[in-house]
Amino acid sequence: LEIVWQIKIKYKELGGVKMNLMLLGAPGAGKGTQAKELIDKYGIPQISTGDLFREAIGNKTELGMKAKEFMDNGQLVPDSLTMSIVEERFKQPDCQNGFILDGFPRTVFQAEELDKMLSKMGKKIDKVVALEVRDSEIVERITGRRISKSTGKIYHIKHNPPIDEKLEDLYQREDDTEEIVVKRLTAYKNQTAPVLDYYKTQGKVISVDGEQEVSKITADIMKILG
Ligand code: AMP
Repeated sequence: LEIVWQIKIKYKELGGVKMNLMLLGAPGAGKGTQAKELIDKYGIPQISTGDLFREAIGNKTELGMKAKEFMDNGQLVPDSLTMSIVEERFKQPDCQNGFILDGFPRTVFQAEELDKMLSKMGKKIDKVVALEVRDSEIVERITGRRISKSTGKIYHIKHNPPIDEKLEDLYQREDDTEEIVVKRLTAYKNQTAPVLDYYKTQGKVISVDGEQEVSKITADIMKILG
């Protein structure tokens, strides 16, 4: 019993599981959904550059206003703006015991800068989870995606409608229209897909079938991570 207590105390001191994870995949592959599952399971925060930009837009900051122009067009926000928002986020104390990167890095330049930034902090990326979903699925998923204003939970009008939450509580992201999704997919293919190869050469990529049930995907990820 004494040993069990000591392990529990040590675990708490360490702040749960120390893991620096990254979720990679096309828009709509389920990165945000899985990040939210993993926050609870591992006790580490999600860092979503998309969420950080949307927060900056909501606060009408200068950075937010600059980012909005690109986001509204389905284009990537320039690397310099992206790196500055990430650098600020990493200064927060909750990232010290691990994090789940969601939607970042999206260019090889960002990946290289991230590695440099982490190495200065004595950290590194442990694993990269690649969520694999066919293109034909993406458009259907994104255009049907709705988000809860009160909880931030992600739903789909057809495949995963809310049970507890009211439909009035849901909203659709401005860039989740078919026209913009096509542009976001092009940006993914041209600029973000090479990031996967970057981490493959580092031997860090775990590929997971992203077309299964949400809970099955989470289970697969956790099984591989241990
Ligand atoms: P997301 O919420 O991850 O789908 O991101 C929404 C939009 O924010 C993207 O279409 C981009 O315009 C912008 N964005 C988010 N993360 C990044 C990033 N790491 N680099 C460049 N642009 C980003």
